[in-house]
Amino acid sequence: MSRDGAELAELVDQARDGQPRAVARLISLVEADSPQLAELARLLGAVPDRAHVVGLTGAPGVGKSTSTSALIGALRSAGRRVGVLAIDPSSPFSGGALLGDRIRMTEHATDPGVFVRSMASRGQLGGLAAAAPQALRVLAAAGCDVVLLETVGVGQSEIEVVGLADTTVVLLAPGMGDGVQAAKAGVLEIADIFVVNKADTADAGTVSRQLRQLRAMAAPRSDWQPPILHTVATKAEGVAELVSAIGEHRDWLADSGELQRRRAARVRSEIEAIALATVRRRFHQLTGAPALDGLTDRVQAGELDPYAAAAELLAGLR
Ligand code: GDP
Repeated sequence: MSRDGAELAELVDQARDGQPRAVARLISLVEADSPQLAELARLLGAVPDRAHVVGLTGAPGVGKSTSTSALIGALRSAGRRVGVLAIDPSSPFSGGALLGDRIRMTEHATDPGVFVRSMASRGQLGGLAAAAPQALRVLAAAGCDVVLLETVGVGQSEIEVVGLADTTVVLLAPGMGDGVQAAKAGVLEIADIFVVNKADTADAGTVSRQLRQLRAMAAPRSDWQPPILHTVATKAEGVAELVSAIGEHRDWLADSGELQRRRAARVRSEIEAIALATVRRRFHQLTGAPALDGLTDRVQAGELDPYAAAAELLAGLR
């Protein structure tokens, strides 16, 4: 084994021991799309898929970060090991910026049963679909029972992140503009649990009423009816109920076979993303070469049409 390979194996062993620095370094490798990822996947191979992945999503300012912190507290009290992966699909920053730092500064900073990392995905050719499952595997290897997956920032990528979760919690709050209206388009399809946070403020009742109406109008996706909970994340009120609801959803997932289905879908898109990223990488290597110049000249000279040129280029990928 090469020196790098031996170092990687040592890091994986240390991560399995629950050493936070090793966990952090491995997730940084994932984030940076390191050439060692295939080796990392091989070394992590036997990790049991036991961590329950809970996605938290909602508009900025709704209380995701505060809720994550409160959830960590509640899960730790129940003796669970908790991982937090904050994903910023758009940020060029990396290495644990943003939410990771916000949470690290709280009371959980010194708790050896909590791993917090944030991850940008810009460096990853395969994007989130390839990177996040690998980071989740690292956290599972470190013994996390639950991983809270949070999106930082806004955008469609939230939906992509939701595809990575076993249970998706959608947070809403009063005073976030027309929260329910704005969220209408996507939330009903993705929410397993609704949380109306900031229940201590006026209009929380209005938000949950609107939400109930919306839920009543939607065709049921399954026999799981997403509950609507109320929390005051700043005081950890309602958080025990949220933990219970997450547990009930997990049981329902397991009993109904939906857990297997969701995880299979995740693995499927992971394989596809890795394969496409590999193709794209080879393609860029090729197009950086004179091959494309030659083909361009021939198309311009009218010797070749662009489809035939593309076919020739693709033949070179094999
Ligand atoms: P995020 O952007 O979704 O992560 O939201 P944050 O967790 O950063 O919260 C945004 C702001 O709302 C902060 O100032 C929090 O202190 C505040 N906040 C969070 N939860 C509650 C709550 O339950 N009640 C009230 N009144 N404020 C809250």
